[in-house]
Amino acid sequence: MEEIAMNQQKTKVISRKLILFPIPFQGHVTPMLHLANLLYSKSFSITIIQTRYSSLDPKCFPHFTFYSLDDEVSENKSFSSDNLVPGLVEMQENYREPFRVCLGRVLDGVEPGSEPFKCLIADSLWRFPGDVAESFNLRRIAFRTSSMSAFVVNDYLPYFKDKGYFLQGSEPEEPLHEIPPFRVKDLPGEDHHDILAFVVHQTKTSQGVICNSFEELESPSITRVREILSIPVYPIGPLHKYSPTSASSILTEDHTSISWLDKQPPNSVLYVSFGSMAAISSTDFLEIAWALANSKQPFLWVVRPGLSQCPLPEDYMEIVKDRGHIVKWAPQVEVLAHSAIGGFWTHCGWNSTIESISEGVPMLCLPFFVDQAMNARHVSETWKTGLVLENGIRRDEIEKGIRRLMVEEEGEAMRSRAASFKKLATQCLMDGGSSYKALDALISYLLAS
Ligand code: UDP
Repeated sequence: MEEIAMNQQKTKVISRKLILFPIPFQGHVTPMLHLANLLYSKSFSITIIQTRYSSLDPKCFPHFTFYSLDDEVSENKSFSSDNLVPGLVEMQENYREPFRVCLGRVLDGVEPGSEPFKCLIADSLWRFPGDVAESFNLRRIAFRTSSMSAFVVNDYLPYFKDKGYFLQGSEPEEPLHEIPPFRVKDLPGEDHHDILAFVVHQTKTSQGVICNSFEELESPSITRVREILSIPVYPIGPLHKYSPTSASSILTEDHTSISWLDKQPPNSVLYVSFGSMAAISSTDFLEIAWALANSKQPFLWVVRPGLSQCPLPEDYMEIVKDRGHIVKWAPQVEVLAHSAIGGFWTHCGWNSTIESISEGVPMLCLPFFVDQAMNARHVSETWKTGLVLENGIRRDEIEKGIRRLMVEEEGEAMRSRAASFKKLATQCLMDGGSSYKALDALISYLLAS
């Protein structure tokens, strides 16, 4: 792939063994697999410890070694925005001991005289790898799948709590002067604070942090994270540019998305997807459906099973005719890179945000939870490559937003700024670019014994 060719760095060919431990959610597994492929391409040997829930098929990744946790969490469980917090708490409780046992098995399996495992790379959302790795005297690097500014905000949360920002009566529009451009309403809800405090702790106690971001995108936050942490920080993204990973998809990608886009004029289509976890009410679902129909803009809409319990109105496809194409799951990166795409209506999960920025696609932002409102705020106010639906899900408001993004001059200006970010996202991976250098530094760290 062209992107891989861009990053063919001259590294010593030593097969150093690494263990990777992803969180089994789409937005976490995909970037971890990009990282795994990238490090494999740099001659590292990769062992992946995975949960039974939402496990990857090892046959699709013959170049990796897989170990599975002997855990109690049902393989048929489903996680969504509705049950994410209790789900995560349950996972953390149920996976700690199986992980300890499994890591022991992996380390014991090393042939006498051969290279030992030197480092565990664990998603920073896991609570327990720090203690467990320490008990085995194993180095640990935290892998962040969210933005660096979200980390800065997470670190500030106890301070903001003391300031009363989460009490009833606080002013949602109040700007947070400590961390511009955020407002009180962009902060993660209190039900997530416990989880986020563990993320901060796991990151602070690791020996390094890898993040799916790049200097040109988040320079002030990356600088701030370096001040907060006394460990190396490696912003090596955008990771999806290194390798395709459709094999990590939780759902089958519908390639009619691409054949349908092939028939559309350049920059004409609004791509609509709210990621792998958002669950919305029937009322909201219908508002979205009618806003898309009434906007008269061509759209490609991902209606994932679980997005809503509400069916589309019976005559919906007759009304939108060829102007709309609906799929259960799309090859998103390929879709965003398609010349027919003119905008992305997104929930602003970090992967979707960075994928959109790297492909030069402006965004209409409808954040749901945790870091999404912060990502959306950066899109609209820092990078100025999109706009936020500030007043929730109302068809007239959405229609207006779609027109501003897809038809009006304002949208054209956002598209042109997005094109500049696309250039930056490509350049940072090239020889001498910021992510290229960060990757070089990461490899040197991993090779050092
Ligand atoms: N995605 C995809 N096809 C779809 C919808 C999403 O491949 O139809 C991918 C998308 O490219 C991204 C991931 O799923 O890599 C979603 O991650 P994100 O952080 O944006 O949101 P989350 O699912 O974690 O809320």
